[in-house]
Amino acid sequence: MTRRAEPVSAVQTGETAGVLTIDLDALAANWRLLRDRMGRPEAGRACAAVVKADGYGLGAAPVARRLAAEGCATFFVAHAGEGVALRELLPEAEIFVLHGPLPGTAGLLARHRLAPCLNDTEQVRAWLEQCAEAGPMPAALHVDTGMTRLGLDPEDLDALDLAAVNSLPGLLLMSHLACADEPDHPLNRRQLAAFAEIRPRFPAARASLANSSGLFLGADCRFDLGRPGYALYGGNPTPAAGANPMRPVVRLQAPVLQVREIRERRTVGYGATAGTAPPARIATLAAGYADGYLRTASNRGSAFIDGHACPVTGRVSMDLLTVDVTEAMRKGSDIHPGVLMDLIDARHSIDDVAANAGTIGYEILTGLGSRYRRRYTGEVETARPARGGG
Ligand SMILES: *Cc1c(COP(=O)(O)O)cnc(C)c1O
Repeated sequence: MTRRAEPVSAVQTGETAGVLTIDLDALAANWRLLRDRMGRPEAGRACAAVVKADGYGLGAAPVARRLAAEGCATFFVAHAGEGVALRELLPEAEIFVLHGPLPGTAGLLARHRLAPCLNDTEQVRAWLEQCAEAGPMPAALHVDTGMTRLGLDPEDLDALDLAAVNSLPGLLLMSHLACADEPDHPLNRRQLAAFAEIRPRFPAARASLANSSGLFLGADCRFDLGRPGYALYGGNPTPAAGANPMRPVVRLQAPVLQVREIRERRTVGYGATAGTAPPARIATLAAGYADGYLRTASNRGSAFIDGHACPVTGRVSMDLLTVDVTEAMRKGSDIHPGVLMDLIDARHSIDDVAANAGTIGYEILTGLGSRYRRRYTGEVETARPARGGG
């Protein structure tokens, strides 16, 4: 057997499933980079963190705990339930619930000191009523400037009790960009103009418009509070520019189960969509579409070992993936059952994997399954805060 000159990236660990390694130091560095982009903390500028969908699939608890330790004071979740769980963890943080108060849930939000994003006149009414009963509570007013998803139309503002809304403590005026990842898209300027036009009606409110990509548009899009999600987790917020300014956070590895030596011309996998012929070797890995390695990456993606790309050969199945390791083994890689191969790593990003699967990195991240062993590096272990009586 040939000896390798270079160190081996794969390690034999006795893993029986894939390993998802989440680098919380890189996450923290990404948050600091975005916070610095916001600039001027003395002028009240700050950077929040969006941790909806379980921290984009990476674990809302370890992610939020680390970012809070880093100085992040404001978090966004989508569902009220996500907010309740986060409140348990972070008694002091400001937590916004993007979906707002669904009918009958204003009390629940208030009890957990969750600030709803008020998305329609009915939600505004329900929250003001809650505040009239139980005292003023913070909220965000979400105005739709061109997304047509959640939020009030600017015309709806005329029907609101603006004085009451403006009296809410810590009021945030927010809107969401539809095309922030396309800097030249004309909708960006139109939304910015619409947002600027609304702002004077909420003179004391903080303003928030930019998601990850929005923070890389002009400085005039940043306002008081940044709302990044994807870029925190290492996703590229500037796909049009190419190079990714963020640090990779995720490494995904799957163990080899078997290496097949190909002795005759034959097909690989369901539907016989790929062929192979001797001399070839096909490695079967313990990851599949049930683990979020999308079936659309069939015959398109790659697994990596020792710097070699091993193309996915045949269809991705539920629990298994077949990759052609002929070249890698010919060049000296020692591939056998138990060896871990990389599916996502520092050089092969979530954006790359997404491109091969015909989707976006957001969907790859949030789809990473529950069967991986999750390893966190740089984790903050905070003792449960003691809740004093009184
Ligand atoms: C999800 C979301 C964000 C974060 O967007 P990224 O593109 O992940 O940075 C910000 N604001 C709103 C309203 C969102 O729904």
